[in-house]
Amino acid sequence: MDIADQNFVKKINQKLLLKEILQHAPISRAKLSERTGLNKSTVSSQVSTLMKEHLVYELGQGESSGGRRPVLLMFNKRAGYSIGIDVGVDYVNGILTDLEGSILLEEQLKLPSSSPGVTTRILIELIQQLISQIPSSPYGLIGIGLCIPGLVDADEQIVFTPHSKWKNVDLKTTLQDTFQVPVFIENEANAGAYGEKIFGAAKHYEHLIYASIGTGIGIGIIINHHLYRGAYGFSGEMGHMTIDFNGPTCSCGNRGCWELYASEKALFQSLQTKDQHVSYQDIEQLAKLNDMKTLNALRNFGFYLGVGLTNVLHTFNPKAVVLRNKVIESQPTVLSVIQDEVSSRMNAQFSSRVELLPSSLGHNAPALGMTSLVTEAFLHDATLSQ
Ligand SMILES: [Zn+2]
Repeated sequence: MDIADQNFVKKINQKLLLKEILQHAPISRAKLSERTGLNKSTVSSQVSTLMKEHLVYELGQGESSGGRRPVLLMFNKRAGYSIGIDVGVDYVNGILTDLEGSILLEEQLKLPSSSPGVTTRILIELIQQLISQIPSSPYGLIGIGLCIPGLVDADEQIVFTPHSKWKNVDLKTTLQDTFQVPVFIENEANAGAYGEKIFGAAKHYEHLIYASIGTGIGIGIIINHHLYRGAYGFSGEMGHMTIDFNGPTCSCGNRGCWELYASEKALFQSLQTKDQHVSYQDIEQLAKLNDMKTLNALRNFGFYLGVGLTNVLHTFNPKAVVLRNKVIESQPTVLSVIQDEVSSRMNAQFSSRVELLPSSLGHNAPALGMTSLVTEAFLHDATLSQ
């Protein structure tokens, strides 16, 4: 084997060891050798490299199985920190996490305008605020992940956002130039799907759908534990699936799109009058008081979601669907209407075997998805590109 090949094998082994330590820490060198099949001297030399890189540290001594008590190894989750930001239509929500995804800090700022210029200015302000709180650590800020409700292509360029009307915006270069760290841009539903898959309601499902129901509807698709982005990064735009071919025209140019009926925006529009604004709190209170108009609107919301989700389930046959929406998370009746609608429209072989779950990470699902993408890229580079 030549030196280049030997180095490559070393790096692969290191990556394998780090993955085992991440999943099974605290763990001894002997256990690592047993689990990976690598011999003890390889484990020992690669672990010492990982320790020099501050990614692994020794915890102390574990239980003895007869001989000398083994030293246990831990992953150093405080070796660096990651920033994840969910850019909404009228807000930005940012979090700072350690390398295991624990949130140290969360900041939300309102967007006075959704134009790219104003949004970029507020984003830079938010990132500076989060950076100023990073504890001292070997790597400091390892990267920034940002998601937006719109089309993001394979080069992480923002091609189009239907609600704030951005066209061809290169936030990746702007933020990379400003902060000198790797920047990742992703579609918001993809980010949320990844967050729920890594940390949330869908941790144990290899095939899952995440539906983000807000101003529009986007879905994130996880197949065999991996995010499915499609050929150009535009998968999951199912809010624009036709559910009424004679329906009203949508901003996308199609007619009768699912999100015109089943988005949160549609729910609020059905409750609002010209001179009465409706808030989440109003919906909660009116539902408690059994207000007929509110209960009907919630039933319709569940009905239309069930109609569209039936198409999604027929297409992907997932094990679970995670629904991200504040109203669904606080009004369990909506989820049961969706469940009934899906059951009445599908063969029981499909409908009885899929779990419909409210999001467990709530509004932080997309930002957490982004910090875990940032961390994965960092650990990949740390073990593969020295
Ligand atoms: Zn549409």
